[in-house]
Amino acid sequence: MTRAAIFQNAASKAQAVARLESSLAPPAAAAVRRPLMAGNWKMNPKTLAEAETLAALVAAAAKADGGVAKSNADVLVCAPAAFLAPVGKILAGSGVSLGVQNIYHAKDGAFTGETSLTMAKSVGCTFALVGHSERRQLFGETDALVGLKTRAVLDAQMTAVVCVGESKEQYETGLVRDVCGAQLAGALENVTAVEIENGRVVIAYEPVWAIGTGLTATPAIAQSVHAFIRGWVREVFGDKSAERVVIQYGGSVKPDSVDELMRCPDVDGCLVGGASLQADAFAR
Ligand code: PEP
Repeated sequence: MTRAAIFQNAASKAQAVARLESSLAPPAAAAVRRPLMAGNWKMNPKTLAEAETLAALVAAAAKADGGVAKSNADVLVCAPAAFLAPVGKILAGSGVSLGVQNIYHAKDGAFTGETSLTMAKSVGCTFALVGHSERRQLFGETDALVGLKTRAVLDAQMTAVVCVGESKEQYETGLVRDVCGAQLAGALENVTAVEIENGRVVIAYEPVWAIGTGLTATPAIAQSVHAFIRGWVREVFGDKSAERVVIQYGGSVKPDSVDELMRCPDVDGCLVGGASLQADAFAR
């Protein structure tokens, strides 16, 4: 299927979903959710000096106009493990939270190359990404492992950003809900409703076909999947969890697409890869 066909198909499905949703009551209590805008630097930038420059620009932007506390969103930067400590020092006091992109769930021991939550916490991390599609696809992370990691993040008193999303083939064959539902079930198997109500879990919907490709999901697609995810949380954990859980969208979010996405009632923030490496784009 061509790109144009993917979007045409998506648009008609999304219109049907939007019609159905507009006939239902609007989502309750959007105001209880404070948006979270997060940058995932992935394995970038190349050097410590570049990372420090980027962090300084992000910190300065975050302090402008009264700072993050007075703005309408929280801000998070997930830096590479090698740069967490220096980036954390630069971000300290800026209101921008620090996150680790990947952790191993064991507390310590013979796990060459891995980063523990204790280590991440000791350099200032309060968030950890789990289940990013690059971890799933390139490093073979299963739903069960994502579940162990999520539990470990919560046990470390940190917040887990649980990433879910379907591949292009799964999207084209109409498997979005099955895939996202299965990934949510694996990741949240050992999580309690109280933890979700307390904001300890953020869910990031990241369609794999939109990550790093320049293909952003239309707001209608994002809204329909976010509404499904919120409904899934409602069914499994109850109303309060569903109303409180922050659900981010991720996948080629850029300054010119962020406003429309953020207008969707169930989109509570964005997880931004490429554009988070340009301080002005991320600040926007
Ligand atoms: C990501 O890595 O989580 C991501 C959304 O990347 P990008 O914005 O570059 O698509």
